[in-house]
Amino acid sequence: MSYAKLVSALARANSTNVNKMLVSPGRYRSTVASAKSQEERSQLEGCAVVEAEPVELISHTEAPPKARRSHVKVDFDNTQEAYKSKGNIELLRSLLVFRLCAIDVLVEKNKELMELTKKLFGQRIFEKMMKMTFYGQFVAGEDHNAIKPLIRKNRAFGVGAVLDYSVEEDLTQEEAEKKEMDSCVSEAERESPDADQREKKYKAHRQFGDRRGGVISARTYFYADEAKCDTQMETFLNCIKASGGASADGFSAIKMTALGRPQFLLQFSEVLVKWRRFFNFLAAQQGKSEMMLLEQKLELDELKESLAKMGLGAKDDIGNWFSGEKLGLSGAIDLLDWNSLINNTTKISNLLMVPNLKTGQLEPLLKTFTAEEESQMKRMLQRVDILANHAVEHGVRLMVDAEQTYFQPAISRLTLEMQRKFNREKPIIFNTYQCYLKEAYDNVTMDIELSRREGWYFGAKLVRGAYMYQERDRAKEIGYEDPINPDYEATNRMYHKCLEYVLEEIDNSRKANVMVASHNEDTVKFTLEKMNEMGLSPTENKVYFGQLLGMCDQISFPLGQAGFPVYKYVPYGPVNEVIPYLSRRAQENRGFMKGSQRERSLLWRELKRRLLSGQAACTGREIFTGNGLFAKRSRIFSSCVE
Ligand SMILES: Cc1cc2nc3c(=O)[nH]c(=O)nc-3n(C[C@H](O)[C@H](O)[C@H](O)COP(=O)(O)OP(=O)(O)OC[C@H]3O[C@@H](n4cnc5c(N)ncnc54)[C@H](O)[C@@H]3O)c2cc1C
Repeated sequence: MSYAKLVSALARANSTNVNKMLVSPGRYRSTVASAKSQEERSQLEGCAVVEAEPVELISHTEAPPKARRSHVKVDFDNTQEAYKSKGNIELLRSLLVFRLCAIDVLVEKNKELMELTKKLFGQRIFEKMMKMTFYGQFVAGEDHNAIKPLIRKNRAFGVGAVLDYSVEEDLTQEEAEKKEMDSCVSEAERESPDADQREKKYKAHRQFGDRRGGVISARTYFYADEAKCDTQMETFLNCIKASGGASADGFSAIKMTALGRPQFLLQFSEVLVKWRRFFNFLAAQQGKSEMMLLEQKLELDELKESLAKMGLGAKDDIGNWFSGEKLGLSGAIDLLDWNSLINNTTKISNLLMVPNLKTGQLEPLLKTFTAEEESQMKRMLQRVDILANHAVEHGVRLMVDAEQTYFQPAISRLTLEMQRKFNREKPIIFNTYQCYLKEAYDNVTMDIELSRREGWYFGAKLVRGAYMYQERDRAKEIGYEDPINPDYEATNRMYHKCLEYVLEEIDNSRKANVMVASHNEDTVKFTLEKMNEMGLSPTENKVYFGQLLGMCDQISFPLGQAGFPVYKYVPYGPVNEVIPYLSRRAQENRGFMKGSQRERSLLWRELKRRLLSGQAACTGREIFTGNGLFAKRSRIFSSCVE
């Protein structure tokens, strides 16, 4: 059984689905000048609605003429603008929630306290209390229908939504560890644990089996069985559908670990990493290890010689591996050509063979797979494919979240295969790059280069990364190199370097697209500065911004009102089932965090401003009409918008 066969099946699948897209080639509006549904129109009746110029959702490749380029400024200190969408009660709630998050004991014992409150007051009162505080702040509602008003309101203020069904299993640590060990260890490994040449990084370790440890920003899925993966896929399908219904320019996010047995991701990651390392080894043999990754090109004749010497095949057979359309045109093989070998099952008989750098021999990664393991892998890829097709049908862009480094090479590679297939005409699939990784820049530049060579639309979400503490502890304890940058400043530099590279690509071809997914105001300002320098208008919809619901409104709303495409990750789900999510939000907003201190002080400033200027009745229900003008729904609210 070859993983590559499955991957290549994805890649080779014909492109008819792309042609079937329901996304019409016509013009779309951005969130700023959002296409209004009938429902919205009726809400806006009687208001002085001023339509903004429509802008294209997914722009074409030409840059606009320089003369039309403008310099856009956004003021992140103007609290009146930032909190225009919020009533006084909402501001007070935010302050209360952030204040509670500053009390260490409450954050540390939040789960126990929630349980206690439920016992003391009963479920109904508990839910009411949560809705008035944490749930109300960070979660949009219980289901697709309940979240609609909030989505509509944010959109009216220029802020779009990435729907994120946030229900999580509340497992104990022991249960999580058991599930992980059951789902990450193959039958063959179970029978003879040391028989295969597996690397410890890409094996499951019970002490890190609970992948939630040390993670505050991200949700964790544990594998139970195939039926559960199907249910999770259904949930993603519903989110995609709802995102398509909610706006003409929706995003939906998925996590690969929800879609299949993680054993596959671990093993495929190991294969990819070992082949990449093998390339580096061969480059070193040719004296090219000091060169930049993409400049390392292996001379074909020397390469054939080396591989033949290692006994990987007869020289002529090896020559055939590189005789494909794109391989070796220049008589040299770079890492991208090399990686494409992993697709090509007809040329290399068994791609689960990985090179052993010590012995120079190829060895099987795993001796055997059971039929069930094989079909589990297939089903995971099928689920991914179904989701991508559904996204295309509903005109929704699909973001694949990044996860732990022992899964990420596989996640990223599968996402790239989807991009190759679905991003031919528009950026539909977005990969995620974690800039806290030492290898982030290499990954971004390699994938952009591939998109350039193959002519598809590159789509990236750039994040700093959510698993830092866990990654570091695991590397230290298991004994491999820490994959994370040495300090926060290095991560910041990496983020900005990756972002600059993508922006340059946008400047060059208008085929790349990026979501700056960060709560860091300096990063957002850096992006705006670069966009201004490049003359890249927000309405070109090439650069998006992303923040979580209930966090950093002082960044999202001014951006939205200035016409930038900005999105909130919008979690939703029943109160009891989003408690693990709420618990993480409490952690991330702890009082000592720089971002939450600033948010608190801005909220105070705005409340004081409203009280001093006699705006105590402000409810934040004014309607934003797309070009910065407000239509007041009734006189009582009018003082809030002046
Ligand atoms: C819309 C959205 C989508 C996201 N999707 C993903 C995703 O798919 N995958 C994912 O992993 N995360 C994701 N995240 C979370 C993200 O990676 C960050 O954890 C979170 O946003 C905090 O980073 P920041 O840039 O907002 O803020 P900042 O406060 O500026 O950055 C904090 C981050 O910096 C890094 N850092 C902090 N200290 C150090 C140090 N000593 N050394 C090295 N690095 C350090 C860590 O990554 C830390 O999380 C997402 C976040 C958002 C807003």
